[in-house]
Amino acid sequence: MNIAELMRENIRNLAPYSTARDEYGGEIGIYLDANENPYDTGYNRYPDPHHRHLRARLAQIKGVPAEHIFIGNGSDEPIDLVFRVFCRPGVDNAVSISPTYGMYRVAAATNDVQMREVALEADFSLDTEKLFARVDDHTKLLFICSPNNPTGNSFARAQLERIIRDFRGIVVLDEAYIDFSEQKSLLDAGYENLVVLQTLSKAWGMAGLRLGLAFSSPLIIATLNRIKYPYNINVVTQNLVLELLDKSPRAQIEQIVHERARVAEALSSLELVRHVYASDANFLLVRVDHPRDVYAALIREGVIVRDRSSIAGCEGCLRVTIGTPEENKRLIEIMTEL
Ligand SMILES: *Cc1c(COP(=O)(O)O)cnc(C)c1O
Repeated sequence: MNIAELMRENIRNLAPYSTARDEYGGEIGIYLDANENPYDTGYNRYPDPHHRHLRARLAQIKGVPAEHIFIGNGSDEPIDLVFRVFCRPGVDNAVSISPTYGMYRVAAATNDVQMREVALEADFSLDTEKLFARVDDHTKLLFICSPNNPTGNSFARAQLERIIRDFRGIVVLDEAYIDFSEQKSLLDAGYENLVVLQTLSKAWGMAGLRLGLAFSSPLIIATLNRIKYPYNINVVTQNLVLELLDKSPRAQIEQIVHERARVAEALSSLELVRHVYASDANFLLVRVDHPRDVYAALIREGVIVRDRSSIAGCEGCLRVTIGTPEENKRLIEIMTEL
């Protein structure tokens, strides 16, 4: 497969915005190139458009070379950019599963790209044949979220690898919840047509900082970097994330996974709960009688969950994020009293 040929021609030929600082490699100099205010406010200089320190640190943590890492303003940015790189508006299409994360559909629509959604089975497993039945010569992207949101299940590595090997386009595998799963990431699987998305918004506890990651071949990463806004990650975020990455979230992840089992068990025993789906993520999908009423009752007590009951395949379901032990206790108390 020729990855460059899958890209839109205008993107392949695009000359990126360049800064004079790209030509000057040093750290300290007299910067008279970017019309900044020379007086130090802490933030008077533009940020590093290449995120060099951050990429080096993430390379260390993730065990992949820096040329394989793209840093975006949340995962939303690489999701939008892969459409721009590979899909000609009004011509190409993308395939994804349903139910899944809503941003793939929004980014497709924004880019005037048709999104074809393949319904998961009743147990949220994925029928590979059904998936490939929707693929045609104009299908450039295939989105799979594993562990999936809002269903919480993962797809087996063997199935994912088969899809990546058989698809003549780019597979975007969203691993936003991978740190809560027993399954291994495909981040170092080494397929040239694979883009793995991860984020610092969930396990790493930095949702407010907006930092999304894409891992792929140096060609795809370099292309994403050429078309992103040059200063997409501000100075405060770059510096703060570097600091926060020194604190391992492992203990919190273990606590959340532990609580997930406890909450699942407690909710399962309630009369109004029909089913608690197994989850590899930091949330539970819970099927209840009268989901609207349960949702409203929780709101009245100041507990906000996500009502997914109107989504095809998730009828009757609420999605509940695992909170602190105290928060979870409160959730269980309220639901027990209903
Ligand atoms: C939460 C989530 C993300 C993270 O999005 P950010 O923009 O990085 O905060 C990505 N994918 C899925 C499926 C998610 O649920």
